[in-house]
Amino acid sequence: MSVSENQGFNTRAVHAGQAFEPRTGAVVPPLHFSSTYAQDGIGGLRDGYEYGRGGNPTRDALQEQLAALEGGTHAYSFSSGLAAEDSLIRALTRPGDHIVLGNDAYGGTYRLISRVLGDWGIGNTPVDMADLDAVGKAVAANKTRFVWVETPSNPLMKITDIEALAKVAHDAGALLVVDNTFASPYLQTPLALGADVVVHSTTKYIGGHSDVVGGAIVVKDAELAEKIGFVQFAVGAVSGPMDAFLTTRGLKTLGVRMDRHSDNGQAVAEWLLERPEVEAVLYPGLPSHPGHELAKKQMKKFGGMVSVQFKGGEAAARTVAENTSVFTLAESLGGIESLMNYPSEMTHASVKGTELAVPVNLIRLSCGIEDVEDLIADLEHAFTFLR
Ligand SMILES: *Cc1c(COP(=O)(O)O)cnc(C)c1O
Repeated sequence: MSVSENQGFNTRAVHAGQAFEPRTGAVVPPLHFSSTYAQDGIGGLRDGYEYGRGGNPTRDALQEQLAALEGGTHAYSFSSGLAAEDSLIRALTRPGDHIVLGNDAYGGTYRLISRVLGDWGIGNTPVDMADLDAVGKAVAANKTRFVWVETPSNPLMKITDIEALAKVAHDAGALLVVDNTFASPYLQTPLALGADVVVHSTTKYIGGHSDVVGGAIVVKDAELAEKIGFVQFAVGAVSGPMDAFLTTRGLKTLGVRMDRHSDNGQAVAEWLLERPEVEAVLYPGLPSHPGHELAKKQMKKFGGMVSVQFKGGEAAARTVAENTSVFTLAESLGGIESLMNYPSEMTHASVKGTELAVPVNLIRLSCGIEDVEDLIADLEHAFTFLR
């Protein structure tokens, strides 16, 4: 079946780009590994397929699915989230252009922009995205091409008003890029709120099973799409067929997974809030979170990511991080299994000593889809080591 934008999220997730194979009726579209395609005479392409870097039916199916879920017209699938970001920046900026990004952006994004693309003449200013006046000033001070935001941010879980930020960017002639990795399109669709570009690390919630690395860009504008599609083809950081297949398979269940991730995240956050060892719980589903009302407005639920800061400082954070067993100590997030991360030495080690550095008393939990009683019992046990 083909899907329409009026259909619900889960219907689109299961069916977009996933029509059954016409010859056999195979319900799951076959995985196409071929790197090249036979031509009916020189230039006689079948359905436009010529060479695997330029096009692959398995990747195209994923791209159609991604566009349908983010409410975009075009999507591009890459070999990693950072490969997607790199192609996006090279497609739409030129030397002398500037990127204004959140001062708690993902460390790898900041590293790419400052330490790789900086040498090619792309400037950057990190700012607090909650402070729209500061964003406006930073945007005006340079030839700003992109305002780049993560909401919720990683790992501080700050919520930024996408609609208001789009206006600030557009008033200055810049584009708003939203890294929607943490929310996923099930919880939040930035294009509908005025963003121009959505980027994803599909490694996280979209893939959802911690078994594939990938990235994506989604847009709703044909001109932007053309430029991005050209760089995807010319640079070649495309996702391979197996990766695209696994990502599609994960994406089909995104909605049901996000419901459970969100329920578990909420319960874990509420449990943490009651603990005397805890200094702060950063979770937008808590009424005490400064972004709670805004998150309620622009997100469907609040997701499975919870950050927590300890009164006992670095030592306490490390102790809890190293004493769980249902939560696995590992980088990454968004998989069905719960993960525990100590950002300042793990995911965010690359921004240590910069203004993006993460507090040393903070751990970040990616609440999986296990039974929440087991997640809480695991934390309770780890907390006994704090006494
Ligand atoms: C992981 C991550 C990225 C980078 O994606 P990779 O797939 O690891 O290259 C970008 N943004 C956010 C928010 C992430 O969590």
